[in-house]
Amino acid sequence: MSTLEELFRFAAHLFWPRACPFCGALGESACVLCLLPCLEPPMPMDLGSLPLWSGGEHDGVLRELVLALKYGGDRSLGVAMGRALGRIFPRPDADLLVPVPLHRGSERAYNQSLALAAGAAREWGIPAKEGLVWSERREEQTSLGQEERKMMPRDVFSPVTKSVAGKRIVLVDDVATTGTTLERAAETVRRGGGVPVLGLSWTCAPRTKEGMRGVR
Ligand SMILES: [Zn+2]
Repeated sequence: MSTLEELFRFAAHLFWPRACPFCGALGESACVLCLLPCLEPPMPMDLGSLPLWSGGEHDGVLRELVLALKYGGDRSLGVAMGRALGRIFPRPDADLLVPVPLHRGSERAYNQSLALAAGAAREWGIPAKEGLVWSERREEQTSLGQEERKMMPRDVFSPVTKSVAGKRIVLVDDVATTGTTLERAAETVRRGGGVPVLGLSWTCAPRTKEGMRGVR
């Protein structure tokens, strides 16, 4: 690293006191290059109605990173994680990346799945945009546990119709638990006149014979 680069990073650290947890680089929430080895091997699987590409099982470092993303309030970490996903997987044949929406009652300041989508979008050269909202009358039912979530009603989301109509959509979630949320999102995209082509998540529940086990 040149002296100038070191000075720049030092200045960056004063303004944005972050450091990559892997290499310690200042001013970075995490380097994309440092994240890549965490995603070996990535996991392509089948949710039934659409394929799912996931960075790996919801465990160890991947789980720590997603918890940091959810509760640390650091959007740039999500973008870096999304860029890492966008590098390990080939560019899908799609027009738009759409995140699973943040609950309206959530205290989080930003949608972490949108941050992931924005990162992957940058690598793939595909736009990312919010395209779904929680159906108002269903909102209370979304704070359910894993088992109940499998029974999630079919109209749990509503499409923002203009955003998804006529487009091939990649649906993005931070953690694919039972896969039900992504399946419901896919159904909603179809209702809105779009074509869901892929689910993308940072982590997913480990696979069992019965399908996906829930994650904590
Ligand atoms: Zn690093």
